Amino acid sequence: FNVIKARYVASAVRADQYPPEDLPEIAFIGRSNVGKSSLINSLCRHHGLARVSASPGKTQTINFYAVTAKLPDERRLEWYLVDLPGYGYARTGQAQRRQWTRFVEEYFLRSSRLKLVCQLVDLRHLPQASDVAMYDWLKTHDLTVQVVATKADKIGRTHLARHIAAIKNGLQLETGGIIAYSALSGQGRNDLLDAIGQILLK
Ligand code: GDP
Repeated sequence: FNVIKARYVASAVRADQYPPEDLPEIAFIGRSNVGKSSLINSLCRHHGLARVSASPGKTQTINFYAVTAKLPDERRLEWYLVDLPGYGYARTGQAQRRQWTRFVEEYFLRSSRLKLVCQLVDLRHLPQASDVAMYDWLKTHDLTVQVVATKADKIGRTHLARHIAAIKNGLQLETGGIIAYSALSGQGRNDLLDAIGQILLK
């Protein structure tokens, strides 16, 4: 399973702005600055697909990318990678937080094509209250979640297992494992693509 093409399709703040094509969707969410844009660019091997920002909390739209993947048997598979705006940024005001909640929840609850939510957390830190709240909300609404721990290159190999265990414990992870990912080294890329491929082929 590998990505052969990825292109930007649309940005939305309301459901009527979602693209009309009937493709399965894989969504990505996490705290602002967790490394979501870098992960999306690395996953798609498309530098500059999602904007990597120096100032966190900027992306306030839901961005859709059409991704074409090739299966080992040469078949092609198209899906939407859905980039959801980051949460938990301290400097966003209450009004903006309310708007975030409204349109992100609208997305989650509307989409019958949503197959998997990749929730990103920083491998270096314990999950924060907003990460736990997000995970609980997704599980409460019966969404399939793959937790991905970002910036794995910043943690030495000897500490990896301890950090993964702490994150599992912090989120009270129900099922499945955590994928440690580095946008710099590409660590975890194949694992995440496999996880996505398995869901899409189900
Ligand atoms: P976003 O706000 O979640 O989209 O996060 P960005 O992708 O913009 O990344 C936030 C910051 O973390 C940037 O300075 C990135 O260069 C850095 N970053 C993102 N991913 C990685 C990674 O895998 N390793 C390292 N070392 N830094 C990363």
